[in-house]
Amino acid sequence: MSFEAKYHGPCAYGDDIEPGDLCTFDEDENIAHVSCPAKDATDQPDWSSVCQKCFLQHAGECF
Ligand SMILES: [Zn+2]
Ligand SMILES: [Zn+2]
Repeated sequence: MSFEAKYHGPCAYGDDIEPGDLCTFDEDENIAHVSCPAKDATDQPDWSSVCQKCFLQHAGECF
């Protein structure tokens, strides 16, 4: 179920919901954008910083 936000508030994916944005509730009942730019950003990792051995993003040497 989606609806237009009436109030300014935090999105579950970390950005801000503005009044009029199309929103829904995630599995944890947190309000979130239906099509969230912050979620899209995390879905597409920066490949230049991804480990070439395990294809994960991690700090330091590959374990
Ligand atoms: Zn969002
Ligand atoms: Zn690695």
